Amino acid sequence: MMRAARVLLTLAVVASAGPPAFAQSVPDLDPKVAGLVSQVSQDRLTATLKKLETFGTRNTMSSTDSPTRGIGAARQWLFDELKSYSPKLQVSYDTYVIATQGRITRDTEARNVMALLPGRSPRRIYVSGHYDTVAIEGGQGGANAAPGGAVRRADPDVTAPGVNDDGSGVALTLELARIFSQSGIEFDATLVFMCHVAEEQGLMGAKLHAQKAKTNGTPIEAILNNDIVGNDRGGNGIVDGTSIRVYSEGPDDSPSRELARFVQRWAARYVPSHRVRLLSRPDRFSRGGDHTAYTMYGFAAVGFRESRENFTRQHDARDTFEGVSPAYLAQNARVNAAAAASLALAPPPPVVVNERNVATINRAPSGYDAHLQWKAAPGASAYRIFWREAWGPDWQHEMLVGNVTEVTLPDTLIDDLVFGVAAVDASGHESLVSPYIAPGSTSVDAGDVKTK
Ligand SMILES: [Zn+2]
Repeated sequence: MMRAARVLLTLAVVASAGPPAFAQSVPDLDPKVAGLVSQVSQDRLTATLKKLETFGTRNTMSSTDSPTRGIGAARQWLFDELKSYSPKLQVSYDTYVIATQGRITRDTEARNVMALLPGRSPRRIYVSGHYDTVAIEGGQGGANAAPGGAVRRADPDVTAPGVNDDGSGVALTLELARIFSQSGIEFDATLVFMCHVAEEQGLMGAKLHAQKAKTNGTPIEAILNNDIVGNDRGGNGIVDGTSIRVYSEGPDDSPSRELARFVQRWAARYVPSHRVRLLSRPDRFSRGGDHTAYTMYGFAAVGFRESRENFTRQHDARDTFEGVSPAYLAQNARVNAAAAASLALAPPPPVVVNERNVATINRAPSGYDAHLQWKAAPGASAYRIFWREAWGPDWQHEMLVGNVTEVTLPDTLIDDLVFGVAAVDASGHESLVSPYIAPGSTSVDAGDVKTK
């Protein structure tokens, strides 16, 4: 008790030094975000899924000549559909020519379809899925059951409706593009609604886009990638329509893990009926997704996956509308809407490292205190401090402090706790948490020990 009182007293002193103390309580829920979440339409999702099914196949190397079947017709429809939502959406093809390699059996023009909703700042939040499909010999069920995995033979022209993989992620992406672009809300971040291509050939569309973004210094803050998020009935008969899995690349306080925590924190408030299950691994065994293409290039990305998969309907002609639940997909769309809107309305996260990339945390002034410093984030009017034991994934404590750029917690061991700080604006929108990362062995002064 004594200790807690001292912490609060010190914080009160720090906070009152700024003009004026952050005394007013801000509501946890923003009606703007709640409004976006409430507009997710199961009927619209259903219509998109059924439309995507009509293309027969959307294999990356399928026909581009037919107006009704194949990848060419599909991408044109996505382009036109996105364009129809709002003149505010900047719709474009993100086009590459992929040379013959791996699963690409001939030089192929590959087009991601992207829709950009400009915000006040250039920092970008992505909501994405992949619109290409594949059918492999024996389907994914056969591949999973075979010891060591089956040979993957894929004919680009056979029927591969891909309603769940990944029509579900694409339908979700389109639905959010529609709702956000028609909302009239001015977001701080620029939102990008992205339909990737060539995912089934090795995340190629996403890799090419991520590579270009890295080269150009495009400020991508977060990618929410959705791949196989429409079915709630496992192939083993187990049904779970009330949760969604979120995979993210480590280590513990990597940008992707902070994004995963953010998704869970804000989805839980706006969509309490749906549970976000965080998984501390990049993806499922021997399965991949486009979020990994972004983490490879240093961006924060998470992968949404339905909780119970039916492998016999994946990468197979049986991936049809009958195999998805639009009600379940709608819940996953609401989770994405809550996370994307909360992120895009919030200020950017504060910078908690110095120019040498070292965390700005020390033991001053007594030598036994926790002293946290950060650079002010544009648009922030307060900051929220988070901490937890240095063994465990979830933040255990949080505290709102005023419009300050440092705080001291007396007699608090920085070596035993993980700290982070988020920027909060006047309406209560909260950024991603910037963690104070303890140095690893690679940052210790290097060099071999000399011996005689
Ligand atoms: Zn997929």
